[in-house]
Amino acid sequence: MTDVTKLTAAELGRKLAAKELSAVEVATAHLDRIDAVEGKVHAFLHVDRDGALKAAKDVDDARAKGETTGPLAGVPIAVKDVITTKGVPTTAGSKILEGWRPPYDATIMTRMREAGLVMLGKTNMDEFAMGSSTEYSAYGPTYNPWDTTRIPGGSGGGSAAAVAAYEAPLAIGTDTGGSIRQPAAVTGTVGAKPTYGGTSRYGLVAFSSSLDTPGPCARTVEDAALLHAIIGGHDPRDSTSIPQPVPDVVAAARLGATGDLSGVRLGLVKEFAGDGAEPGVAAAYRESVDALVKLGAEVVEVSCPSFKFALPAYYLIAPSECSSNLARFDGVRFGLRSGDDGKHSLEEVMQLTREEGFGAEVKRRIILGTYALSAGYYDAYYGQAQKVRTLISRDFAQAFEKADVLVAPTTPFVAFPLGSRTSDPYQMYLADLYTIPSNLYGGPAISVPAGLSEGLPVGLQIMAPTMADDRMYRVAAALESALPPLTPPAL
Ligand code: GLN
Repeated sequence: MTDVTKLTAAELGRKLAAKELSAVEVATAHLDRIDAVEGKVHAFLHVDRDGALKAAKDVDDARAKGETTGPLAGVPIAVKDVITTKGVPTTAGSKILEGWRPPYDATIMTRMREAGLVMLGKTNMDEFAMGSSTEYSAYGPTYNPWDTTRIPGGSGGGSAAAVAAYEAPLAIGTDTGGSIRQPAAVTGTVGAKPTYGGTSRYGLVAFSSSLDTPGPCARTVEDAALLHAIIGGHDPRDSTSIPQPVPDVVAAARLGATGDLSGVRLGLVKEFAGDGAEPGVAAAYRESVDALVKLGAEVVEVSCPSFKFALPAYYLIAPSECSSNLARFDGVRFGLRSGDDGKHSLEEVMQLTREEGFGAEVKRRIILGTYALSAGYYDAYYGQAQKVRTLISRDFAQAFEKADVLVAPTTPFVAFPLGSRTSDPYQMYLADLYTIPSNLYGGPAISVPAGLSEGLPVGLQIMAPTMADDRMYRVAAALESALPPLTPPAL
């Protein structure tokens, strides 16, 4: 008998359409898998068994009546806990939102429900998506299915681990500085950050509004593309949503899977060609570039001198925006309220709530951002960082004159041991050295498995111009077709 949890989303979709499997059977298999492995992985903050079985039954009923259903109708999905889900707890990994049940669905959630995707539950994450290891969750860490003494990446470590551990074939992540791609890299899965504005932010618990981008996590490039096509596209409820259709990412992934990259120009970013990367990561990167060249791609070296300022610029812009966005957690409107005993003033209740409800990293960012935005410092910090952002976009524009896509490792190191980087914030921030430039520019980028280093997965990152998301899927699918698939050891 085939193990249903090992099938890809595309295969599940086909078997469901052919009525070889029912959506209830598929949901049950995944819920059972969650029961079996969650003790070791802790990918989920909330499993919605009843909601999943009901959604699955609705898909089966619709199909029995002959109603038309999409390619992923009945396929289960895990959703990062930063996405609002009507009536289902949404905490963003924070104590301050404990017990909050949103009164509405995020736009991407509405689209997934309409497409018949079955939500299994909400996944663990660093508090408010700030972090690179999921260790900053207020609810305890997630463990990497490849080695449960190691981190699954972050902030979306729960989504990546759920997919890697066969708890869900698909998941949703959000990427502000790398939180879809870096977890994908260290768990041997695929993670795509769409063009900023290509997927709606309506109903995302906001971290850094000019950077936040929801996107797909999957085990194959085609699956990521199928999900991207469902969640993407214009949303009038998000003022920064791009009023254009999503490029045909599914067709691009299928074209790439034929393994022909003739005519595609790969730009190797000189500044990221292994600088600062572990030797095993640099070696896997070179081997994956060789594999792409064998498929017909042409290699050009490009220089992006401003990329070296991306990390410091990001750590001014993202905290600045978060200090403003997180002001709404005041103990009045959502979740936790502390000190409301009639003896404290409103101001004191707000202070006590924020003191108790936010973790150390979130407080660090709020303080940093408030400082960077304060009178007298604004131009020196926030203003300078915005100028760097412009220079980075210019580097991308020049590089894309010579190359169709840019490639680099996704992250400088493989999954690190739990606890090894929590005492030094800078060491944690370094995980996003290679992913942040695309966020500052706004273009799409994907991480695809690129082999192993010391038995742990490495990711290749492929970056494309804004609204050319299809290009990165083509190259990613080609690499996937050329390399042996990565399978984690049994849990
Ligand atoms: N790790 C980065 C940070 O801590 C990126 C987070 C993200 O993409 N949400 O800010």
